[in-house]
Amino acid sequence: MASLDTTAISRRPAAETIPGYRLENLVGMGGMGEVHKAIQLSLGRIVAVKLLNPELAKDPAFVARFDKEAAALAALSHPNIVSIVDKGRSDTTYFLVMEFVEGPSLREQVRSPLLTPKEALRMMMEICRAVEYAHSRGVIHRDLKPENILFDQQAGGLAKVTDFGLASFLDDANSRYNLTSTHVSMGTLSYMAPEQRVDAKTADKRADIFSLGVILYELLTGEVPLGTFDPPSATKPGIDSRLDAIVGRCLKPDPDERYSTVAEMMADLEPLAPVITSQPPKPLTVIQRVKAGVGRAARFTGRVVATLLVLAAAGELGREWLQTKMKLPPIIAGTALSSDLGPTSVKSIAGRKVKGTERRSMEMGEGADQLYFLVSGRTLDIDGKALVFPALSRDHKSRTGQAVADVDVMEMEGDTALLKADVLTSNPAPTPIEEARNFLLGEPPAPQAALMLVGVPGRFVGLVQEGSGAPLRLEWVLGERRGTMLGQASPEGVVHFEMEVDAEGMLRGFVGTGKDRRPIGEPLILGREWQKQFGELPRAAVGCIDGTCRVEGLSYSVRKASNAPPTAVAEAPVSRPTPVATKPAVKLAPPAKKPPAKAPAPPPKGGKKR
Ligand code: ADP
Repeated sequence: MASLDTTAISRRPAAETIPGYRLENLVGMGGMGEVHKAIQLSLGRIVAVKLLNPELAKDPAFVARFDKEAAALAALSHPNIVSIVDKGRSDTTYFLVMEFVEGPSLREQVRSPLLTPKEALRMMMEICRAVEYAHSRGVIHRDLKPENILFDQQAGGLAKVTDFGLASFLDDANSRYNLTSTHVSMGTLSYMAPEQRVDAKTADKRADIFSLGVILYELLTGEVPLGTFDPPSATKPGIDSRLDAIVGRCLKPDPDERYSTVAEMMADLEPLAPVITSQPPKPLTVIQRVKAGVGRAARFTGRVVATLLVLAAAGELGREWLQTKMKLPPIIAGTALSSDLGPTSVKSIAGRKVKGTERRSMEMGEGADQLYFLVSGRTLDIDGKALVFPALSRDHKSRTGQAVADVDVMEMEGDTALLKADVLTSNPAPTPIEEARNFLLGEPPAPQAALMLVGVPGRFVGLVQEGSGAPLRLEWVLGERRGTMLGQASPEGVVHFEMEVDAEGMLRGFVGTGKDRRPIGEPLILGREWQKQFGELPRAAVGCIDGTCRVEGLSYSVRKASNAPPTAVAEAPVSRPTPVATKPAVKLAPPAKKPPAKAPAPPPKGGKKR
C-alpha cells in the first residue's frame, strides 16, 4: 500500500518489543507500517513481523483494515500466498506475523533485463494461481502490483502474493471487517481498475483481473499501460502476438468485457506458458560440475576408471558420500514428457486405421496403413512392430523422448476412449566403465516408460512404469487439476497398460489383461465432454526417460456413445487455446504412401472451433 504517503507517517523512535518475537532488521516499509525480519522465540525460526504504524493504530479504521488483512491471510492456505503465523498487540501497536520470504519482489524482477517472455509467463501463471485460489475462497486482493509479489529463493523462486491489506471479502456487506471509512487510501492508481478508482466498494474479482493485466503488460514490455497503449507485441520484439488479446481483455475498461474469472484467463495463458516443473533447474554445484567434467573425460580416455577407483579407495564413507551427492536427479515423468522437448521429426510404422463416423481407431502392428508419430527429445527407432527409444548414448542431449500419434485418424470427438499398449523398460548391460561408475555412484536411474493422452502442451494424463517393483502411476495435469495416483508394484517384464474413459468422463488406468487386469489408483473424474480439458483433442503418445523403452501393440480408439446426440460435442462452444508453435498440434500431410520427408505441415493458424 505504497499509495499512502509514508513520509507523512512519523517513524517510531525506539525499537518495538513484540511479545514472543525478537526483531532483527527492517526489511520493508509500506503504507501501513514496517515489516521486520524477526525470530519467533518459541520455535527459533525466522518470520516476518508487520507492525502497524503506532500513529495509525490510534485510528479504528486502520486497525480494522489490519485485522482484515490478518483475516484474509488466515482464510488462505496456498503455496503462492504468504502464510500467516500469528497476530497480536504490543504496548503501542498491533502486529501480524507471517512466513518470511527471502527474495526479490516482482518490482525488482521487472527491472531485470534478463527476464524473457517465457519467464514472465511462468511467473504470471503462479501469480494467477494465487489470485484464482483467493477468489475461490471469497477474497479479493484489490492491491495487486509488483511490490506485493515476492519470490522465495529458498523455494526455487516460487512467487508469493503478499499484502492483503486492502483485501475484501465477497460477502463484505455482512462482514465485521466491512470498512466504510472514506479516508482510508485505497490501492495504487496505475494498477487499479477504473471502477475501483471511482468506488472501491464496487470492485469485484474483475478488478483483480485488471491489475493482473497491468502486471502482465509490464512484465512483458517493462512499461505500465497508460491511456491508449500499444499491444505488447508492438512494443517489444519477440512477444507472441497471441498475448495481445489476453492482455487486451484483462484491461478492458468495462468489467463485463474482461475475463470473468482468473481461471478463464489462465486457460488462455497456459498454452503459451512453459510447463512448470516442481523443481526448477538450479545452477550446478561444484560437485555436479566436477561430475560433468569427469564424464566428458571418460568418453575419450577411460581415465575415469582410475579416478573412480582412487575415490573408491577412500572407502565406504566416500562411496556413500558420492552416492548421495552425485546421483542423477529423478525426473517426474508426466511433467518432463509434456514439456517442450524441442524440434520434432516424423516416424512411421505399419498398422491399421479405422475412420468410421461413430468410431475411429489406430492400431499399431498388423495392417497396411501407415501410422505417423511426431518424435521429440530422444531418438526413436522402429523395430518391426515396436517403437523403441534406444539406450541413452552419450551423445543424447536429452534423457527424455516422446512420440505423439498423428491426429489424422483421431481427429474426432468421442464420448468414450480406450488407449492400450505393452511397455517394457530396461537398462542395458553396463560397460566396464559404467560398472565402475555404478559401483561408486549406485545404479543408474530406472528408465520410465509412459503411455499418455496429450493435449496442448502441458496437458496430459499418463500411465507410468518405472522398472519392475516400483509402483505404477497414473499422472495428470489438466490445467489446474494435477496429481499422481500410485498403483500396485509393477510386474517384471512387459507391462500391459490400458486407459479407459467412459461416457460419463470417468478415466481409469489398468494394468494386465483378462482376470489379471487391475486398476491403477482410483478413477479420475473428468466429467462429460472430458476431451475439452486437454485444450484440444487428446492424442495417444508414448514417452521414455532414461534407459531403453519398447512399446508394442499401441492402439487408441474413440467412440461416440450411441445414446449421445452425435454432434453434442461438436456444437458445444469450446474455447480452444491456440497450440504453441514450437510443439505444434500438427496435422500431417494427408495419408501418403511414403512418409513426409522431414518436417510435418505447418501448424494450423489460430484455434479451431468445434
Ligand atoms: P504495507 O501493507 O504496509 O504496504 P507490505 O505488506 O506491502 O506493507 O510490506 C512492505 C514491504 O515489506 C514489502 O514490499 C516487502 O518488501 C516486505 N515484506 C512484506 N511481507 C514480507 C514477508 N512475508 N517476508 C519478507 N518481506 C516482506
